[in-house]
Amino acid sequence: MLNIGAHISIAGGYENAAKNAFDIGANTFQFFTRNPRGGKARALDRDDIEKTEKFFEENGIKNILAHAPYTLNMASNNESTREFASEIFRKDLDILNEIPCNLYNFHPGSYTKDTLEIGTSRIVDILNSQIKEDDDTFILLETMSGKGSEIGRSFEELKEIIDRVNLKDKMGVCFDTCHVYCAGYDIVNDLDSVMTEFDKVIGLDRLKAIHLNDTQNDFNTNKDRHAKIGEGFIGNEAIIRFINHETIRNLPILLETPNELDGYRKEIEFLRDNYKY
Ligand code: FE
Ligand code: FE
Ligand code: ZN
Repeated sequence: MLNIGAHISIAGGYENAAKNAFDIGANTFQFFTRNPRGGKARALDRDDIEKTEKFFEENGIKNILAHAPYTLNMASNNESTREFASEIFRKDLDILNEIPCNLYNFHPGSYTKDTLEIGTSRIVDILNSQIKEDDDTFILLETMSGKGSEIGRSFEELKEIIDRVNLKDKMGVCFDTCHVYCAGYDIVNDLDSVMTEFDKVIGLDRLKAIHLNDTQNDFNTNKDRHAKIGEGFIGNEAIIRFINHETIRNLPILLETPNELDGYRKEIEFLRDNYKY
């Protein structure tokens, strides 16, 4: 069965989010650990967590994905921005150790006025100071489109970070189709080569989740604007090929398309209808 979900709000609690996901035909979902612009995380509610665990068990939900806020920038040249990133990252991992969520995705960061090398070192320093041996969540670097000074536009940039993390068993990658295509990897015309390249550079064993989005911008534009499935430059045909690809088809796939729940429901239905396994 296709392991697919969408971005769901946890404003009403985790169990409520899981039910909303289930209602639209999803068997996984993604949520922001806190307001996407930063801000406070919701207080842990033991009762909600227990109910969520029960709901997951009863409905075969696993591999849900937490997304860090967009304001988290470990590579920034601004010290207080880095301190904020470090603190939020640690606090998020503490929360995720308590709830039934095993994947945490974040944008590696932007080096702003410095260099790729300096930015990369800053990310690595924070990861090495904050990740603990007993954290039970996979930490995923998201593939980025490469706008501005964004780190993670190439598989090599992600590999460099992973290589320098001490507890690298906990590190993985979340592959965003919109970002990867706009970063110049041709998943439309040559998916096999892109995945072979991923395997060669990072290793497919690190690939833990997919963000499935179409794009409002064309190939290699280094822009980041998601489109609904089939309504962008990637198109339905390439998307169907993608979800059925042997390297992708068993992974959790999360939609981040510009939709409300009903739009997600339709996309999930379309993708399930076109899944061959
Ligand atoms: Fe993201
Ligand atoms: Fe994404
Ligand atoms: Zn994006």
